[in-house]
Amino acid sequence: MRIKDVYAVYAVGAGPVVKAVDGVSLSVAEGEVLGIAGESGCGKSTLAAVISLTARPPLYIKGGEIELDGRVIQLSEQTKASPDWHGRMVALLPQRALNSLNPTARIRDFVVDVMQAHNAALPRQEVIARARERLEQLSLPAWALDSYPHQLSGGMRQRVVAAVSTLLDPKVLIADEPTSALDVSSQKQLVTLLKALLERKFISRIIFITHDIPVLSNIADRIAVMYAGKVVEVGETEQIVKAPQHPYTSALIKATLDPEPAVRQQRIEGIPGAPPDLRRPPSGCRFHPRCPLVMEHCTRDEPPVVGTPDRFAACWWVAEHSLDEEVLGGTR
Ligand code: SF4
Repeated sequence: MRIKDVYAVYAVGAGPVVKAVDGVSLSVAEGEVLGIAGESGCGKSTLAAVISLTARPPLYIKGGEIELDGRVIQLSEQTKASPDWHGRMVALLPQRALNSLNPTARIRDFVVDVMQAHNAALPRQEVIARARERLEQLSLPAWALDSYPHQLSGGMRQRVVAAVSTLLDPKVLIADEPTSALDVSSQKQLVTLLKALLERKFISRIIFITHDIPVLSNIADRIAVMYAGKVVEVGETEQIVKAPQHPYTSALIKATLDPEPAVRQQRIEGIPGAPPDLRRPPSGCRFHPRCPLVMEHCTRDEPPVVGTPDRFAACWWVAEHSLDEEVLGGTR
């Protein structure tokens, strides 16, 4: 899967537009988990809405391209999802599974509704049998299908929604902050389930969106770090976690609590300042008002992208040093 030069804005009336996704290009190989990390408002969930073709006003897609298993989609405000896009090509696992479930309907009714939306001719009993088999294959209790959402714990709800929303074996699962509302042990169970979906080839690749780098350490093969609508660094997970190059990546890692006993005693350092107002983003590097390494030209000129498509950082400081040096230091 490849996305290229994706632009999307929020716009209300005649007011200034918010450039929420500003020229993002990324790729995800078959069998790969790509993590997308960044603070709230960096554009990662907006990017999920664009890729899943679920953008609704005030969010408008302004351009870009998606290529997925040989199918190429040119993006614009008019782009509509084909009937098989949701479910067969892309599945979306939202942050709060409860919000996607009808509290007055049993889980099996939700599954039937979703599956019959894709194929109205599918018999109800066949859908339920397929869902039951999928839950058993993933070592989840089949009785969950007979429950109402409130009868399941938050973690179980999230796992069941992940299992049944991928019944059509989609090419990509976009998991948007799926662990944010879960406790640590439920987070681990969900990560284990997502890995099982991939290993059993029920899905072909995962885009996992979170602000939580320690969670990504457990599941992502590569990580893309977003700041203020742009991708500022990409690398393999170990490269990003142990040898971050971009000052924002380094700050983001230092600002995150890792629950593992060996590291949880470390001090957390907040990132000074606040994310910029994307109606009027800063000139030059958008991180410059918060960056400890800011130089005069950072405030004026867009930073260059240094490296290869698989390992790069967009930063003047990195451009003037070596990408191979562990210049910003590992934090774990
Ligand atoms: S371009 Fe300059 S301001 Fe931006 S992250 Fe790099 S050093 Fe900091």
